[in-house]
Amino acid sequence: MDRLNFTLPDLEPGWVWLVGAGPGDPGLLTLLALQALRQADIVVYDALVDPRILDLARPDAVREFAGKRGGKPSPTQPDISARLVRHARAGKRVLRLKGGDPFVFGRGGEEALALVAGGIPFRIVPGITSSIGGLAYAGIPVTHRETNQVVTFVTGHGVTGDVPDGIDWAALASGSPVLVLYMAIKHLGTISERLIAAGRRPEESVAVVSRATTDNQRVLESTLGRVTADVAASGIEPPALVAIGDVVRLRAGLDWLGAMAGRTLIDDPLASKIQRDAV
Ligand code: SAH
Repeated sequence: MDRLNFTLPDLEPGWVWLVGAGPGDPGLLTLLALQALRQADIVVYDALVDPRILDLARPDAVREFAGKRGGKPSPTQPDISARLVRHARAGKRVLRLKGGDPFVFGRGGEEALALVAGGIPFRIVPGITSSIGGLAYAGIPVTHRETNQVVTFVTGHGVTGDVPDGIDWAALASGSPVLVLYMAIKHLGTISERLIAAGRRPEESVAVVSRATTDNQRVLESTLGRVTADVAASGIEPPALVAIGDVVRLRAGLDWLGAMAGRTLIDDPLASKIQRDAV
């Protein structure tokens, strides 16, 4: 990071930085994330952190995995928080690295509160959340003037592992023309049924974006009525985002990474009308 004309703060001994690593592509890291990777003594990372990003850590840094892996018991949230406090008290420079943004469905708040309780100084480094960065790599803007003035990010997975019970699906269905669901593949059947029961059209466009921004990114385009069957038939796998709403149709013109690269003809009537109005 030579030649920056401003100074980045240092990750000091005894501190914890809670850092978002973005959705996968290392190019989407922030400068502060890179600074932390270069300075940390210990990197405590989650399953969703891309290996190419971990490779940017100091070669002699200790890497500690804190996520779920293949059916093995995973550390509990209090275990992880206690570990961060312990490392910081031992005078280490601690990087807590999370997929996407630490404060978006990432339990970053819980870990930060544990640091507060332990009297540990910390910094939060936001990251590009997968719903925004991942959909951008699929050619889907999360808002567009003609399609939606509201977007809602929803988790499809509650504390107990079921569909979260605190969600008012009828209110979401009528109030948010675009919904982006995290952790929703397992309960997609129930979720799409609830949305349709609450008035959303079965023909409404849906995109499922798996492993977004990585070399294994896959995008499945479907409709609310068909998406559960299409996901099952396609073998598309988590981690994945589910985007629901007309804005998904803009992908017909904006899939810059895939089919649209270098093309000008858009074969979706809504997307081409929006384009005609815009240019
Ligand atoms: N803090 C993270 C979200 C953690 S919850 C963030 O801001 O992105 C985990 C969920 O995030 C996954 O189930 C999936 O829905 C989504 N996710 C994270 N990375 C992803 C990726 N590269 N591609 C698709 N979905 C991703």
